[in-house]
Amino acid sequence: MLPVDHWHQQLMEYLKQDIKFLQGVGPKRAELLNKEIQILTFEDLVTYFPYKYIDRSTFYKTTEIQGGLAHVQLMGKISHFRLEGGRSKRRLVADFTDDSGTISLVWFHGIKWIRDAISSDRSYVVFGKPNVYQGSINIIHPEIEDAEFHTNKPATSLHALYSTTDKLKKSSIQSRTIQKLMVNLFTRIKGKIPETLPDHLIERLSLMSRDDALRNIHFPENNEVLAKASYRLKFEELFFIQLNLLRQKIRRTKSQGFIFEKVGSYLNDFYKQHLQFDLTDAQKRVVREIRSDLGSGTQMNRLLQGDVGSGKTLVALLTMLIALDNDFQACIMAPTEILAIQHFNSITKFLANLNIRISLLTGSTKAAERKIVHEELRNGILQILVGTHALIEETVKFKNLGLVIIDEQHRFGVAQRARLWKKNIQPPHVLVMTATPIPRTLAMTLYGDLDVSVIDEMPPGRVPVKTLHFRDSQRNRVFGFMRQQIEAGQQIFVVYPLIKESEKMDYKDLEDGYVSITRAFPPPKYAVSVVHGKMKPVEKDISMQHFISGRTHIMVATTVIEVGVDIPNASVMVIESAERFGLSQLHQLRGRVGRGNEQSYCILMSGHALSSEAKKRLQTMVKTTDGFEIAEVDLKLRGPGDLEGTQQSGLAFQLKIANLGKDGQILQYARMEAEKILDDDPELLKDIHYRLRIGLKKMAGEQMNWRDIS
Ligand code: ADP
Ligand code: MG
Repeated sequence: MLPVDHWHQQLMEYLKQDIKFLQGVGPKRAELLNKEIQILTFEDLVTYFPYKYIDRSTFYKTTEIQGGLAHVQLMGKISHFRLEGGRSKRRLVADFTDDSGTISLVWFHGIKWIRDAISSDRSYVVFGKPNVYQGSINIIHPEIEDAEFHTNKPATSLHALYSTTDKLKKSSIQSRTIQKLMVNLFTRIKGKIPETLPDHLIERLSLMSRDDALRNIHFPENNEVLAKASYRLKFEELFFIQLNLLRQKIRRTKSQGFIFEKVGSYLNDFYKQHLQFDLTDAQKRVVREIRSDLGSGTQMNRLLQGDVGSGKTLVALLTMLIALDNDFQACIMAPTEILAIQHFNSITKFLANLNIRISLLTGSTKAAERKIVHEELRNGILQILVGTHALIEETVKFKNLGLVIIDEQHRFGVAQRARLWKKNIQPPHVLVMTATPIPRTLAMTLYGDLDVSVIDEMPPGRVPVKTLHFRDSQRNRVFGFMRQQIEAGQQIFVVYPLIKESEKMDYKDLEDGYVSITRAFPPPKYAVSVVHGKMKPVEKDISMQHFISGRTHIMVATTVIEVGVDIPNASVMVIESAERFGLSQLHQLRGRVGRGNEQSYCILMSGHALSSEAKKRLQTMVKTTDGFEIAEVDLKLRGPGDLEGTQQSGLAFQLKIANLGKDGQILQYARMEAEKILDDDPELLKDIHYRLRIGLKKMAGEQMNWRDIS
């Protein structure tokens, strides 16, 4: 360990102090700051970043103010306090006068405090949004600062705004309060805030020092400096996340894995004799990547990304056959029963002539069957087990589990992944499949501990789905089109949103929809199925079977059909209230059609009034079928925290300043630099990297989940 210089050490200690000791805080405010915005220490405050800046370099004259101005800054005197309004709407009004004229300032609460705090012979800087009230201008609850104090602040023209909560505002902790605390803190910090990145990195990338960056993020002198400061802090944040993930990956590659070196008759027979078509180039490439993992002697932990219908299941199947060729068992876990059954059916069909023992295990497997499955797993007769999370239960024990395949990763938590690891003396190889196209930037951050393979090519002969957007008033046209399609022998999905908070209303929508569809498509000419989550499993099954076998023409459903269900003859997907769905969900739904060789259609129905985001979502769907492009738009629209499933998939950190939707480029640089450093010094033992060791240690303290998987 390098000798840390004295100042440095003292400053680090200083920043660890409880926030209540900061001038202007105290125990009561400290408690609020802790609870509401997680500021516990001086350092937490330093890294509480502004969400916005306002240019305050210019002062307006009162006579220049008009109604519609956003925010203005004025300098002048405040006088003639008076109470106006009745008992219920009592307000304090004062004159604000500069050398050009007078306007009014208005307060509805904090009246006594304002009266006491302001003296009529001092100059103040007043900041706020002007209103026109009964023909004259006023500012309600302006920000007020002693002019002297204002000019004594660190020279800055951009004024930082900090977000606060309702509770904080009620206790009069507002953006400007936080700004004052920030001033107090920075005037008390003697010396420089310790650096966290190695000097060689800072020099090579011409980054601002941490000290400069922090000062400038709160009190920027101009836009240029602000941009540099923000770049530096974003880089730092993303760099440490990448460094952490990459280090875990290094640690993991040291964990031994079973070696599957044989290619035996299961794979060969299947591939040469039973597979009806050629693998796409992308599938071939991915299988090669997987095979190299399986032979390497270290545990495979690979994410397989591919759009709906790109042929992931087949890749999974080939991987399982390799495991079987090496005398290991394999299992595949799906997020829902419907999906598990579908996997089971398609795998059984693919392997029909190969004499392989395959079973299904879900929540509804009967006790007697379950017993047999358990037994056969333990004595090794059972080779492939397909199921839901029933698989991870304690009671499920394998003789020799060598490979775990997890479908639709984003529905399973990191902890669940970890439980599967423990089902053999040495962790089995893991292949995680997801149809949610995760943008590269996000994948790097979410799954930095996994290797990623991508199937970016569809099997030949697929005709891209045509997507159209119609308003509710054009329903008759849509019905006409549906009739044509049925005439031509096609089947149709009609999907209604199901959003938890308004479940009752959603079911009402579905029921009304069903009634109107059966009216427009009456028996005996037409037959309609309905499937939703409130039906008994048996009823659901029957209804599904009717549609799958072609006995019904239309299936009215909630989003239960979202994942996986494969009905090649369905070529039209009508999505009702499409504006209520998220982009990735729309894309998943659309993936249910377009599986055969016919032209298929996705019809988005919406109301007339659409928010600009909803409009953008629907336009994106009409414009492209590329899942990755859609995911990028989704990420930009919603931000990473909201992306479906990212909460559960173990994003165990919160970004304070970077934004994955917008800062993808910085993330890539951060990743590259982290890789370079670890290539050179995998354990970060060199003296020049001691700051990184400190940084990682600190992160480990702050993180919750990552330990579970490594
Ligand atoms: P995913 O799991 O990625 O959604 P699937 O594996 O279910 O996709 O494949 C979708 C359909 O395409 C299946 O019917 C499958 O048999 C078929 N398929 C897979 N790979 C190919 C290929 N290389 N050529 C032709 N059809 C394929
Ligand atoms: Mg699939």
